[in-house]
Amino acid sequence: MKYSKAFIKTMKQDIGEAEIVSHKLMHRTSMVRKLASGIYEWLPLGHRVLKKVENIIREEMDKVSAQEISLPALQPKELWEKSGRWEIYGKELVRLKDRHERDFCLGPTHEEVITSLVADIVDSYRQLPFILYQFQTKFRDEIRPRFGIMRSREFLMKDAYSFDVSDESAAESYKIMYQVYENIFKRCGLGFCVVEANSGSIGGNFSHEFMVMADTGESEIASCECGYAANIEKAVALMDYDTPDTDNNFVKKQEMQEILTPDKKTIEEVSEFLNIESKQFIKTLVYYADKDYIVILVRGDRTINEIKLATYLDALDLRLATDEEIMDITGVQKGFLGPIGLRKGLRVIAEESIGNIKNAVSGANKKDYHFININEIDIEEYVDLMLVQEHDKCIKCQKELNFSRGIEVGHIFKLGMKYSLPLGAEFLNDQGKRNTIIMGCYGIGVSRVVAAAVEQNHDDKGIVWPWAIAPYQIGLVCVDIRNKELLELSEKLYADLNKEGYDVLFDDRKERPGVKFNDMELLGVPVMIIVGKKYLKTNQLELKIRKTGEVVEKNLVEIFNFLKYLSF
Ligand SMILES: [Zn+2]
Repeated sequence: MKYSKAFIKTMKQDIGEAEIVSHKLMHRTSMVRKLASGIYEWLPLGHRVLKKVENIIREEMDKVSAQEISLPALQPKELWEKSGRWEIYGKELVRLKDRHERDFCLGPTHEEVITSLVADIVDSYRQLPFILYQFQTKFRDEIRPRFGIMRSREFLMKDAYSFDVSDESAAESYKIMYQVYENIFKRCGLGFCVVEANSGSIGGNFSHEFMVMADTGESEIASCECGYAANIEKAVALMDYDTPDTDNNFVKKQEMQEILTPDKKTIEEVSEFLNIESKQFIKTLVYYADKDYIVILVRGDRTINEIKLATYLDALDLRLATDEEIMDITGVQKGFLGPIGLRKGLRVIAEESIGNIKNAVSGANKKDYHFININEIDIEEYVDLMLVQEHDKCIKCQKELNFSRGIEVGHIFKLGMKYSLPLGAEFLNDQGKRNTIIMGCYGIGVSRVVAAAVEQNHDDKGIVWPWAIAPYQIGLVCVDIRNKELLELSEKLYADLNKEGYDVLFDDRKERPGVKFNDMELLGVPVMIIVGKKYLKTNQLELKIRKTGEVVEKNLVEIFNFLKYLSF
């Protein structure tokens, strides 16, 4: 592509609303343009990257014989009613009516559509297993679209679905897709990690997220050098008291006592007053969850992981109860609540770690009183609700956990029969018996991958594209197009590089060299070849590597060998 003809406009100024670097740089390089809140146009430069990512995904999917299809974005309400999601999806689902007043939605995902398709086509176990996938524009009516295409209302996804006869076979499909995803992100040239995500009630690790590592990422990851890695929403850790009693650290259980603690409400206050460490405390919280109130017990020095709690309760609306609500529900003033002598009929859930505290302290459900030496609590529901924190230890190897941030670009999970059952996707097995298909689903946010790549690969001059997904791999800069000799050389080099299959952006504009260099660096082209006056004397051309800033001199023959062996 000749720059003089390219539909590119670089900008010096950031767009005012941009909060993150990918939004700023994708705007300044005219990769995308905002049409309306959360809705973006992809201009040639951005489109080229998008297509490169798409092609890598397609090639890797096809290698495992996944088959590409194309499903409609517009989906009828009836299908969504069958799965029960028409009601529960909420306002993020873009709903509309056609001229006959029939209800439709613009798909945020395609489980319903594909399951009904497969239910129609599959009769026998002989047709299974298989994997179908598509590239599709998805819609999500975000309450507050932000971060450019990182969280937009319309975005490009690759979604894939596997269909199997049994759990074992479904696990095999899952394994294949896990490997495919690793290959895809490796080929894109991105630093990523795979983390355990919410596995739900199926058991085993049947959900993984693929995260592009970036300090600006919205997801927090807990990981360990032994290989353990999990989204903070799901992460677990070894608690310091999880070690069994030994002769050395045996703690004798004491008799429970009620103690006057006038005006001491917070754990810090009571802890100081009684001179007992906060990890000996049972913190008693009251949560409001979808119209119910639930009492939650957690260790005094720890925080509840509200995502784990919401998942466990399957609650959409979860928050801490207000002081008035606490009084109403428990009859006790906030600060003196505890598990012993709590009002009857309340649902109480204890964080798992509670069971291990000896001689615990908590409120006595009476103003100005606390219990000490609690060793028995009558609770049936013990659940992992722990939010891991700094200095927590790995559950697998006991080393200290590391914390980092990432951007979720892929998510795979085993669906089981969640959709195949309500939508009637069945098959006859080898004994002629009717069975339900076991499904898995696998998504990649294609437009998100592009933004995540920029978040991970940039510097103060602009984007630093990985070779595989760069809109152009080589930026050819003729420093003075009025010099006939230099222009002719540039034209020839441009033709030869194109012939070799490189994507070349040839800057043939009537601009000063400084402007051209700055633009190439802002656009993030991995290698710049500079056709300058020096060549006329030495026959050498300068090559500048965007990532390292390194400059090397090569003659016309050497250039081609050099490019071949460049590894990114
Ligand atoms: Zn470990």
